[in-house]
Parts: sequence; structure tokens; C-alpha cells
Amino acid sequence: MKDNSTGKLIVFSAPSGSGKTTIVKHLLKQKEFNLEFSISATSRDPRPNETHAKDYYFISLKEFKQHIKNDDFLEWEEVYRDIFYGTLKNEIQRIWNLGKHIIFDIDVVGGLNIKKAYPEKTLAVFVQPPNIEELKIRLKKRQTESDDKINMRVAKASIEMATAPQFDHILINNELEVALKDAEELVKTHINA
Ligand code: 5GP
Repeated sequence: MKDNSTGKLIVFSAPSGSGKTTIVKHLLKQKEFNLEFSISATSRDPRPNETHAKDYYFISLKEFKQHIKNDDFLEWEEVYRDIFYGTLKNEIQRIWNLGKHIIFDIDVVGGLNIKKAYPEKTLAVFVQPPNIEELKIRLKKRQTESDDKINMRVAKASIEMATAPQFDHILINNELEVALKDAEELVKTHINA
């Protein structure tokens, strides 16, 4: 893909339940940052509070595999068995055409792949939950998944924590208000650089 935009890329990656979505939503509200959310494609079903083409592009497994064949993805991953997630190249183009910076809420492998694709323009931030126990509590509170699925996410989280040093910044999310302010500072510095 032609890299012809002055727009920057800002990646927030973390184990699910670490609070990264809350942080990303907060940043999107700060209009002066001129950020647009990169809507990922996924083959999983929408949760009750999710909307197509806002939270994700919800597509079938068959459609997802066709996009892989067509080389339509900047990065994609089978995050859980038969559950695929990916960033479409034309999503990046859509946001660049708007003249905005792109903010990503994606898993650690995807986040590092974006950084690899655009090393200079990308700020890659790892959001770290206080510990695995706290993560479990947060996922349970969310009440959107079965115990099995929560355990699957917690197991994955332990592996993901080990990738933190490969990111540009580790943002510790002990206290949300502090994490939000830290995130604002990181974004401000990156887009003004
Ligand atoms: P959830 O099902 O909770 O929305 O997301 C599960 C995991 O997939 C999260 O860690 C989320 O950040 C990640 N994810 C979402 N979109 C993408 C994407 O486009 N690429 C990759 N690699 N991971 C993604």
C-alpha cells in the first residue's frame, strides 16, 4: 500500500480486560487529536451492545478467508480458534482520505505487526493491567462471556504480558484517571513530533 499520508498511527494493545478499549474511547472524544478509530474485521458474532461498521465489520468466516486470499489485510490473526480478526488495507486508506490519525484497539501480535509495517509513523502502546487476578475480575464483571471463554482469555493474557517490552511504551492501568491522562500525553507528543 502506498504510504502517502501525513497521518500517524497509534496502537493500543493489551490482553482483553486490561481497559484499553476505555482508554481508546476516551482519546477518540478529544477532538483536538483528530483521531479516527480503525474498525477491524472479525468473524466472531456481535455482542448485544455492538454495531456493525462501528465496533467491527462483522463478516462470515468464509468472507474473512476470501479477504485473506485476496491479500486485502494489512494484518490478520486467528486470535481464538476459528475466530479471526484483522485490519483491512482499505480501512487505513479510508481514514487517511479523511486526513486523520488512526487509532487501533487490537491484540499484541496485531499491534506489533502494524508497528513493523509503519515503524516511523506508529506509536505502539502496551496497556498493562495490574495483575492476572485483577484481569479475571474485570472480565467477570463484564458478564459478556462464559467461564470457559474467560479462562481462555486469561490464559492468553499471560503469554501476551511477555510481549510488553517490544512496545514503544508500557502504560500501567492501575488507576483509570491516571492512565487516561498518561495516554493523552503520549498521543499529544506523538502527533506533534
Ligand atoms: P474482542 O473479541 O474482545 O473484541 O477482541 C479480542 C481480541 O482481538 C482483542 O485483544 C482485540 O484487541 C483483538 N483484535 C481486535 N481487532 C483486531 C485486529 O484487527 N487485528 C488483530 N490482530 N487483533 C484484533
